[in-house]
Amino acid sequence: MLNKIEHLGIAVKDIQASNKIFAELLGVEPYKQEEVPSEHVLTSFFRIGESKIELLQATSPDSAIAKFLDKNKEGIHHIAFDVTDIHAEIKRLTALGYQMIHAEPKDGADNKIIAFLHPKSTNGVLIELCQDRP
Ligand code: ZN
Repeated sequence: MLNKIEHLGIAVKDIQASNKIFAELLGVEPYKQEEVPSEHVLTSFFRIGESKIELLQATSPDSAIAKFLDKNKEGIHHIAFDVTDIHAEIKRLTALGYQMIHAEPKDGADNKIIAFLHPKSTNGVLIELCQDRP
C-alpha cells in the first residue's frame, strides 16, 4: 500500500545555493544533509509539516542526477511514496507489469530503503518507493 507522498526530489546543480533558496522559501533550515555514495549524490532534506523536499546534487558524472541535468533543467526529479512493505509493493507492481529499476530495495538517504520504478511505465514520472529502514 502506498501511504502518502513521502518527499519530492529536486535535482540541483549547486546544493549550497539551492539550500539557501529553499531555506528562505520554506522558512526552515534543512534538517539533514547526507551523501549517498552508492547513488553518487549529495542530498539535503527540508520538512514542511508532513511533507519533505529532497534536494539532490550529483557527486560524479555517473550519477543519475548528472545524467538528468544533461538532458533537463534543474527541477522536480522524482516523487517518493511511503510504503509499509516495500517488498510486497515491488512484487505487486511487477505483477501488474510495471518495470522496476531496482528489483530489490537498496539503502537510500534519510534512513530509508528504496526502489525506483522506471519512468517508461509511469507516464515519464520517476517514482521512488521508500520504507523506513527496518
Ligand atoms: Zn528521493
